[in-house]
Amino acid sequence: MYYQPQIAIATGEVVGVEALLRWRHPRRGMVDPEELIRVAEQSAVMRLLTRRVVDDVVEQLAQWSAAGITLRAALNVSVRDLHTGEIVDQIADRLARYGVRPQRLQLEITEGALMADPRRVLATISRLHAIGVAIALDDFGTGYSSMQHLRRLPLSEVKVDRSFVLGMADDADDAAIVRSMIDLAGALGLRVVAEGVEDERTWRLLHAAGCDVAQGWFYARPMPAGELTAWLARYRPLRPAAREAESRPPQAR
Ligand code: C2E
Ligand code: MG
Ligand code: MG
Repeated sequence: MYYQPQIAIATGEVVGVEALLRWRHPRRGMVDPEELIRVAEQSAVMRLLTRRVVDDVVEQLAQWSAAGITLRAALNVSVRDLHTGEIVDQIADRLARYGVRPQRLQLEITEGALMADPRRVLATISRLHAIGVAIALDDFGTGYSSMQHLRRLPLSEVKVDRSFVLGMADDADDAAIVRSMIDLAGALGLRVVAEGVEDERTWRLLHAAGCDVAQGWFYARPMPAGELTAWLARYRPLRPAAREAESRPPQAR
């Protein structure tokens, strides 16, 4: 697993990480995660993969705790993982076994997965919500979730898809879409995370639009857990206001 930091835009504080699957094939090298997931989803392999991801991430959270690092970790699940309650039992078991508080774990579900079978998915995420594991709606804007779902599902967070965020500094339409999504999510009381924040300009626009959290190469790429510890030790919070003062010419300070 690789982990990518998520930063509260207003304070610069690291609020969590997203766990992202990486597979280094002995001959083919790094395999594109999206391709890997697409193939795994066709078979029982996906279930096994997700079990492994849950095990690894909960164990990692326990190790961070022991080292005095309190982070929330989000992991991605695919639609079939949510068709039975098995994943809830596994998560509850691992959290108890490692002594990790449920609030430290979050699950990301794509809009597409949610809509593929809203009824069954709702049953599973309601159980997760009941044990204290928060749910994020991933790739927001790419699927077709109705406003009804946004309102009724026990969601804590929406993640604005990177396809909109990547374009927002240059494309007025993308910027307008992102702002609308931030407003909508905010009005519904959901935390908003922008993924794919690659540059300072985008980060400033997101701050101005009232986005809560940012994730992207501007801060850090996904990295192995060992590197993350060193990154956290080096990290200095970057606040939009502080940065503005720094970038003014010296005589104006
Ligand atoms: P996602 O959940 O939307 O994850 C965010 C993706 O954006 C990650 O791609 C991440 O590396 C990439 N990203 C982050 N910051 C930036 C940025 O500033 N610029 C750009 N261009 N990209 C950025 P990644 O790691 O290739 O994963 C792709 C997708 O594969 C994920 O999208 C997720 O849907 C799926 N995936 C990854 N790991 C898992 C897993 O453990 N289980 C499941 N079911 N799906 C996974
Ligand atoms: Mg995700
Ligand atoms: Mg996403």
